[in-house]
Amino acid sequence: MKSLKKKTKPQPNNNSSLDFSNTEIAFAYKSDKELKKAAWLFSLMNKSWLVNPLSDMGMLAMKLRLPFTQSIVRETMFEQFVGGRTLLECTPNIEKLYEHKIVTVLDYGAEAKETEQDFNKTMNENIRAIEYAAANASTPVISTKITGLARFELLEEIQKKRTGLPKRVVFEYRNVLKRIDAVCHAAAKNGVAVMIDAEETWIQDIIDHLADLMMKRYNKERVVVYNTFQMYRHDRLQFLMNSFNLAEKEGYLLGAKLVRGAYMEKENKRAEAMGYPTPIQENKQATDDAYDMGLRFCIDNYKKIGSWAATHNANSCQLQAELIEEKGIPKNHPHLNFCQLYGMSDNLTFNLADAGYNVGKYVVYGKVREVFPYLVRRAKENSAVSGDMSREYELILREKSRRGI
Ligand SMILES: Cc1cc2nc3c(=O)[nH]c(=O)nc-3n(C[C@H](O)[C@H](O)[C@H](O)COP(=O)(O)OP(=O)(O)OC[C@H]3O[C@@H](n4cnc5c(N)ncnc54)[C@H](O)[C@@H]3O)c2cc1C
Repeated sequence: MKSLKKKTKPQPNNNSSLDFSNTEIAFAYKSDKELKKAAWLFSLMNKSWLVNPLSDMGMLAMKLRLPFTQSIVRETMFEQFVGGRTLLECTPNIEKLYEHKIVTVLDYGAEAKETEQDFNKTMNENIRAIEYAAANASTPVISTKITGLARFELLEEIQKKRTGLPKRVVFEYRNVLKRIDAVCHAAAKNGVAVMIDAEETWIQDIIDHLADLMMKRYNKERVVVYNTFQMYRHDRLQFLMNSFNLAEKEGYLLGAKLVRGAYMEKENKRAEAMGYPTPIQENKQATDDAYDMGLRFCIDNYKKIGSWAATHNANSCQLQAELIEEKGIPKNHPHLNFCQLYGMSDNLTFNLADAGYNVGKYVVYGKVREVFPYLVRRAKENSAVSGDMSREYELILREKSRRGI
């Protein structure tokens, strides 16, 4: 593990008011050298005119397997946003987070797979992560994507037709069910939990169906399985309430990870091209309102809903923290959690953990080639759209100047 220069141990925050602008706590885990490197990386990403061509070139170089591409990516974007290539490689990073009372949500980063062999590989990776998690208090949860376990077109076909499906589809779907059940069963058996990511609306009904099925099977005594609710969809607040009613009726605990949603442009474009009303809220404010109402709903019913506020939005984090405080619920109640992505919004994660709340980091891991699309998304997200400095870059610069480096 790299030595931590200037390792000032953060003082526990006994004052209940959270200060997300406290960069000393946010970056205490980074040495001066690491902070300077992060500043350099975010300054590059801040140049939006550079990010798109560089991403395209990177994709091409990766495809052509050009020499040095992997090592350049590994030394830069990979190091900032990915835990490691394997679980073993992630371990020092996971331990570092845990020293600051932050748990890890293990996320195997393989995307856009096609063959039954690939899907079995993802299932086996998920089960391996569960076994790792079972042996480490620092990693109580793993996350999985149904499109890592099933063909996208298969899910699309089932959602479109629903009945009268050809035999080959039924057969292929049975294998999907077996895979997701094997993952959730391993989690239940090993005292670990599984978050199921939300994806595009045209396959999400099937994902919701699978998640409900798994929750019914495994969430009787504790929350083993979490579904994900994308509050940028105008039907999701109602869907969250319906999911809770279903859980009540069937006698299980609801697991709910709340996100705003990652596929907005794609959703809007498809709706326009195909001539149906967009599933997305009419503006950002409507998404924010729905998100915060979703948080309130989960906190109001926290005894029967286990939830994760998976967000980089400081207002939503502040709201959840205040509601927990107001209602006199223990800050570390296992049903109330926060979560951010590794390498992002450390000001939220580390300050929440320091104040005694349950916080996790989604730690993506996988080979450089496998996680490259994820890295491109992170680069685009952190590039300045309107000429402003990105949130992350500004915080890193502030900490650099506080340290006088
Ligand atoms: C731990 C973690 C897990 C995640 N898992 C998933 C997942 O399973 N599935 C998934 O889809 N996403 C997932 N995401 C991504 C997430 O959905 C958001 O894209 C991302 O976190 C940015 O939203 P935010 O809540 O951090 O806040 P902000 O930065 O405040 O909000 C940005 C988001 O607001 C919404 N938005 C922006 N403009 C508009 C507009 N004009 N109209 C309506 N809505 C608008 C969009 O969703 C946009 O991403 C995850 C994020 C985290 C941190």
